This record gives sequence, structure tokens and C-alpha cells, in this order.
Amino acid sequence: MYAFNLTVPPGTTSIEATLDFLISAPGPTIDFSASGAGNLFILMWNQVVLYPKGRPAAEVIFKPTLTLPDQWKFSTSLPVSAQSGSTISFAPVALDLLVDSPVQSGQFMRVFPLNPGGNPPQELDVLSDDSWALDVPGDLIDRYKRLVAEATALYQSHHFRDYHFLLTLSDNVMELGQEHHESSDDRVKQHALVDPNARLMMSGLFPHEFSHSWNGQYRRPVGLATPDFQQPMKGELLWVYEGLTEYLGTILSARSGLRTAAQSRDHIALVASNMDHRAGRHWRSLQNTAVAAQVLYFSVPEWQSYRRGVDFYPEAVLIWLEVDATLRKLTGDHKSMDDFCHAFYAGHEGEPVIKTYTFEELVSTLNGIAPYDWAGFFNSRLNATAAAPLGGISGSGWRLVYNDEPNEVLSAEDEVSSGGDFTSSIGLRVKHDGFIVDAIPGMPAFESGLNPYLRITAVNGNVFSLDELKRAIRDSKTSSSSIEVQTDNTGRLELHKIEYHGGSQFPHLERVSDTPDYLGEILKPLTPAGGN
Ligand SMILES: [Zn+2]
Repeated sequence: MYAFNLTVPPGTTSIEATLDFLISAPGPTIDFSASGAGNLFILMWNQVVLYPKGRPAAEVIFKPTLTLPDQWKFSTSLPVSAQSGSTISFAPVALDLLVDSPVQSGQFMRVFPLNPGGNPPQELDVLSDDSWALDVPGDLIDRYKRLVAEATALYQSHHFRDYHFLLTLSDNVMELGQEHHESSDDRVKQHALVDPNARLMMSGLFPHEFSHSWNGQYRRPVGLATPDFQQPMKGELLWVYEGLTEYLGTILSARSGLRTAAQSRDHIALVASNMDHRAGRHWRSLQNTAVAAQVLYFSVPEWQSYRRGVDFYPEAVLIWLEVDATLRKLTGDHKSMDDFCHAFYAGHEGEPVIKTYTFEELVSTLNGIAPYDWAGFFNSRLNATAAAPLGGISGSGWRLVYNDEPNEVLSAEDEVSSGGDFTSSIGLRVKHDGFIVDAIPGMPAFESGLNPYLRITAVNGNVFSLDELKRAIRDSKTSSSSIEVQTDNTGRLELHKIEYHGGSQFPHLERVSDTPDYLGEILKPLTPAGGN
């Protein structure tokens, strides 16, 4: 972002420079500077490095030193060469790997080995504002150990010297999951490991970020592997970089026991329902959400259905599930995405390297497992402006249904966000204070005139609460009158009549009898210690 142009006098052999960096607090949008609090700090080197322009990042070598407040501990994947008091000297490291290796530090930290005695070592490093949060529940540590074992069984390779899950439990930093080659920078609320809803919400975080070490860091789309930080990235393969990672994270969450099989099915049903209710499907293809990633990452949640968001994450879960089901079907259930992972991520062990790929190489790896028109398969799903790709669900022996039984993942999401998600009934998402986050064009709430940014003040003559709205939707099934909603539209009161009589509707997967249950197989652990 910033260049300093200097006229260097002849004969100069070195330049000394200092840089001040101003840290910020968490805000409403992505703010990577919100990385510190009174008792902790996560150093992201890219925010404090100065380097000479014009050389590949892999060829600029740093010898970093870091001075922490007294008594603070630290953790990072960077090898340490020396330590004197609270000043740490790291071994020489290239700029690209330095930027890829954040340092987690603070007063309250605890380390949990996840494969004790194993090679390469993999560990969980927990940092928090306070000591109580470091008591990570034992059953959760067991599941993280299984995650490490299941990832080894799935990928059958390691592209790191050691791996650190750098987990920060704090209400004072931005919530984040940031992948790196030898670590991940994972930040959640301080109570996230002890509150059951928050815990379910973060169940996919580690499996996703860990999978990135293979898919994204080691194997990277050629357009995202730029030689330095001045070249713009090209995001058309983000549905692989992020989307396949999201799929692999989904199956590893189940195989490690972080989600039960039933929770995993509710998760997939929710993804399918959300994508199936994207009004913007009619004008924006999935491929376009990837190309527009740099805009959509920062877009607000309001109008998300009509605009679409970074849908290359969730929708690609459905597409890769269909790839998995198709591979199984084509090979009489002898080959699957597991075989793709063995082939695609094989190679170099140890020190991080990047091996780029193109769409054509992806297709040829799949053809090596089961010949098929994979290019046509992907192109039709990526470029379509039509219904959501649900073929993976039906192809793996299940169907998407809606009924009045709560979806466990959706309920947890509503609890954690203090919101109400009525996407699959009246097509509305609303905050606890009545502000509308989204109204889906073509669905009953929108058709009654409800829009994002309006605030609902009353439901059927009663003062608004999420419970009032839930009750009105539930009772609509037996009521002959419409749901009456009063809104505050920038100070002007308006009345809306929602014509809806479907009752509560939540997405689920239902087994299709007399078909192979490939999804059941996909979610099953590979290691003998597993089992939900
Ligand atoms: Zn990711």
C-alpha cells in the first residue's frame, strides 16, 4: 500500500529506518489491526515491515527481533535463534514466510500438544485476556487431537516443520480465522469454548484453517501465488482455495467429532437452504462472486441475498460434495475425494513450499481418479444463473427438506448472534432490536414491503420481540389472517401484511431410501480411534 522513495547517497551500504504503527480496536468491518488488548497482542509482521522494492518476497531475507512486555509469553511457528530477557531473535527468514508467521503473545498462555511425541509436532497454543479461559475442556482437546490424526489420514502428507493453532480467546480483538503455512491465527470470543452454542459455531474453524496448510498454502491457484506484495491477485479459483477448504473442513469437523453426524447434516442443509434462497442467483454467478471477492469480503450483510456475498465458500461445499459423490458413483465406491487429496497434496515434506496449479491441472487430477467431463461439470455450476447445485445431496443419498423441527446449527447461530433467521419461511433475517438485516425478493416478507434497514416495532399488535415474530410465523399455519408487522422507516411508521401460512420452516437432510448412503461414508472417521 505504501512506498517511500529515497535518494540514497553514493557509497551508502545500509539504511536505518523506523516505522510507527497505530493499533486499533475491533470495529464493524474487517480490521486486521484490532490485534491487541491490555494482556495480549498478536503481531502480524506485514503491518510493521519495511522492505526494498523490486525483488521477489522469497528473496528478501530478514533477521527479526521482537521485544515483548516483561513476563509475557509467546508462540509462533518462526524458529527462535536466541532469547535475552524479553527480547527474542528469530532465525533468518524470507519475507514471504515472515509475513506468513504471526507471533501470539501475552500474559496468559497455555500449550496443549496435539500429537505428543509425533512428527511433525502439532500443538494448540491458547492465549486469553484472563487465566480462567485457559482451562480448555478436556473433551475438546481430545477432538483436536483427533482432528490432527484425521487430517494426517486424509492428506497423507505434511508441508510444515511443525504446526501451531494460535488460538486467542478474547472479546477485545477482531474475530478471525487466518490461514498460514505452519500456523493459523484463530480468534474467538473469550467464552467460546465453554458456551455450547458458541462452541458449535466455531466447530468448523480449526478444520478449515488447518486444511489451508495443504489447500491454499502448499497447493495454491497460480493467480493467488504472486511473487511479491505489489502484484494484484486473481481470484477466479477462490472456489477451490476457499470452497474446497470449506468442504474438507466440513468433513474433518465430522470425522474428528467436533460436529456429530447429525450436526454435520444440519450444517450442510443450512448451507444448501441459504444458497437456494439467494435471490441474486438470477443475475450473479458463483464464478462472479469469486472474481468480485475483494469487494464482497467487505460488503455489509444487508441485501446479501440479492447482492450475494462470498458465496464461493458455502456454495462450493455443495459442488465438492457432488464431486465426491460422483467419484464414488463412477468407481463403484472405490474412489473418492480422499483419493484426490492423496494425489493432489502429495510431495515435498517439511519446510513450506508453494506448488501452484491451474484449473486444467485440477481437472486432470480428477480425471486420473475417475475419467469424466470435469471441466464441463465445474463450468456449468460456476457460470450458471439458476437454482442452487443440490446434486451432491441427492447424489450422496439424501434430500433437502423443510419442516418445523429446529435446525441445531441455525438455532446456535441465532443464539450467538442474538438474531432471528427466517430465511426458509418468510424470507427474513432480523436483529434482536427489530432492525431488518435481509428480506429476500420474491418471498412473503419482501413482498409485503419489508426491506433491510427498516426496524420492526410491532407484530400482530404486540411490541416487537424475536419471540413475538417466531410465534406469529408458527401460528400462521392455523391462522386465516396475514401477519401484521409495523415498521419504523427512518422515522415514518408503516404497516405491512405478510401473506404467509406455512408455519415454521427449517432445513434438514432426509435419507432417500434404497440409495447408497455416500454422505454417511464421507462423514465417517478414517482413523480407528474415531467414532462419534
Ligand atoms: Zn479460508
